[in-house]
Amino acid sequence: MSDKITIAIDGYSSCGKSTLARELAKSLHYVFIDSGAMYRGVTLFAIQTGCISSSELNRGLLISKLDEIELKFVLNPETKSPELLLNGENVEKDIRTPKVSSFVSEVAAIKEVRVKLVAEQQAMGSTGGIVMDGRDIGSVVFPSAELKLFITAEISTRVERRYQELIFRGTPTTREEVQENLLRRDHIDSTRKESPLIQTSDAIVIDNTTLSKSEQLEVAQGFVERAISTLA
Ligand code: C5P
Repeated sequence: MSDKITIAIDGYSSCGKSTLARELAKSLHYVFIDSGAMYRGVTLFAIQTGCISSSELNRGLLISKLDEIELKFVLNPETKSPELLLNGENVEKDIRTPKVSSFVSEVAAIKEVRVKLVAEQQAMGSTGGIVMDGRDIGSVVFPSAELKLFITAEISTRVERRYQELIFRGTPTTREEVQENLLRRDHIDSTRKESPLIQTSDAIVIDNTTLSKSEQLEVAQGFVERAISTLA
């Protein structure tokens, strides 16, 4: 495969988008960008700078501070996965806490936040050879992507995967809490005014409820080959 295409992967929370995007990028020697990490980075910044108090998000204050946020990805030499730097500090672990998860969809619904991050994401993908996952990648960030995948899985499967991931990382939680957070984020993400999560008409749907990671990767690789061959 010599032609480098742009691959957009969208879908609901915790349905395996980032896992697929990371593995696909590795197998193709493409860049992988987890756009959700960037929204999580802005949310962590909001918590650190007092824009989020116990249960309130101060939108105006966060908007006034957006210029102070610098997000960058660096490759972890051991895992070969990109990790997020927020103003120079590695925050890959800190952006995955339940507190960040509980505010991130409200932060991501702010127009000014999206304008900033979408511009940065488009710059990262300007030369192709990228796999980016998120909620608006095929619809807004890369509407002309050569391949758009929309990933789904049954809710019970998504809850179990995220629950096991959090427990593995040592974060105490329950399946009920996880399910509540996923459904709440899905609702906010798909009903917000600014670039809501949608399945574009040209996206290929992959339901991975009964697929292993390697089976899902194989299915996606088949679509990549097809997309590249139709370019020639
Ligand atoms: O992908 P992840 O679940 O880490 O994303 C966290 C949150 O970031 C999502 O629930 C959504 O609110 C927001 N997001 C978004 N647009 C993207 C990626 C993520 O609004 N492209």
